[in-house]
Amino acid sequence: MITSGSVQPVLPLYDKEMECLYCNKTFITKKVRSKFIIIKKRDSDFCNHYESVNPYSYEVFVCSHCNFAFTEKFQPIKNTRKGIIKEQYIDNAAFTNLNGERSLEQAIKAFKLALLCAALAGESSYVLAGLCLKLAWLYRYDSNNEETRFLKNALDNYIKTYEQGDIAALNKASLLYIIGELENRLGGYERARRWFSILLNDKALDPKIVKIAKNRWQEIRYERTQE
Ligand SMILES: [Zn+2]
Repeated sequence: MITSGSVQPVLPLYDKEMECLYCNKTFITKKVRSKFIIIKKRDSDFCNHYESVNPYSYEVFVCSHCNFAFTEKFQPIKNTRKGIIKEQYIDNAAFTNLNGERSLEQAIKAFKLALLCAALAGESSYVLAGLCLKLAWLYRYDSNNEETRFLKNALDNYIKTYEQGDIAALNKASLLYIIGELENRLGGYERARRWFSILLNDKALDPKIVKIAKNRWQEIRYERTQE
């Protein structure tokens, strides 16, 4: 029994009402309270490792009415895309309850659904890249080899973003950094060198990122001499 003097413990997750981008119905999803988000360490590709609850696990919203999966980065769905989404996804969606507390496996499942929905909705390479990068990180927590496959997909999509010049709304320096970093992680030292070189020689770029990149490039070169 709850008495007037009792104190309810504050839980890391809370319920948030979302509107589905596809069917426009509302559903409840879980979010992480910011005071429970504690970063333990950060990898050189910006992957955070968290103390306990991981906010990445709750970045994808999965509609409990139609199963459409999306993130805050998705654009409103174009009418011309609705048919293909219905035909290739909604009509044969296998419902899994992904709206409670998520295990690592369930978080991966949610991101895979979002990646599929993003591709069908014609989302930008940048959004696809971000989903692939997060998937790679989730696999990294588990030391799963699938990490490499998704790092490669993320890299391809970031390069596409760069080549399409689709960087007006983005930070060009961050984009160049992540491309160089992923190239190096995937064993492409020479290609990484070229991307870092573009970044370090462009005087118009964000000096904060340029400084991080300069340090990172020195580290990569040092690591290479130790091999
Ligand atoms: Zn829906």
